[in-house]
Amino acid sequence: MTGSAPRGWRHDPGLETDAAELYRATTGQTLDAEVWLSPRMAGHTAGVFQGGPPPRIALSQAYLERCTLEERRDLMLHELAHYHLWRLGRRRAGHGAEFRTLMRTWRFSRYPNAEILQNLRRPDTVPRILYVCPAGHEHWLRPRSNGREISCGLCSRRFDRRHLLRDTGIQRIPGQEAPHRSRS
Ligand SMILES: [Zn+2]
Ligand SMILES: [Zn+2]
Repeated sequence: MTGSAPRGWRHDPGLETDAAELYRATTGQTLDAEVWLSPRMAGHTAGVFQGGPPPRIALSQAYLERCTLEERRDLMLHELAHYHLWRLGRRRAGHGAEFRTLMRTWRFSRYPNAEILQNLRRPDTVPRILYVCPAGHEHWLRPRSNGREISCGLCSRRFDRRHLLRDTGIQRIPGQEAPHRSRS
């Protein structure tokens, strides 16, 4: 971890591991980039890629807290595609033809969820329920109204009954966490 990052960004090894696994599963190659989390990303941005050294992907924490696992994967693949093209020397590829080819072959959507982005400035008041998979991965998701079973996106990229998420009943409303009692 070298070089200066924009203010507020923090290196996130867990997110970096997820991105590296996704990149390896998609390309068979090793991710040689840092993945950072940005608490406040400007306006309608869910993620950015910066060429190196070191190359760096930053994802919006506010977006990740609101999106589905599928949208999270889309966002990661979007920034990984920028990284991939950068690595191939296509520094000006942007969202042009080569990027669109990757979109098709890697199967991701170019656009982040616009509704989430529009609401990023407003506080999220939709309650979240803590779901856990058999391996112990935690996911804070919106309550399911359709009763459909969901499986852990970290354990398996496809729906898999062996990795079913269990509703723990633990709930929190974003931004309204119980106050910490650090002083006695
Ligand atoms: Zn982009
Ligand atoms: Zn899991």
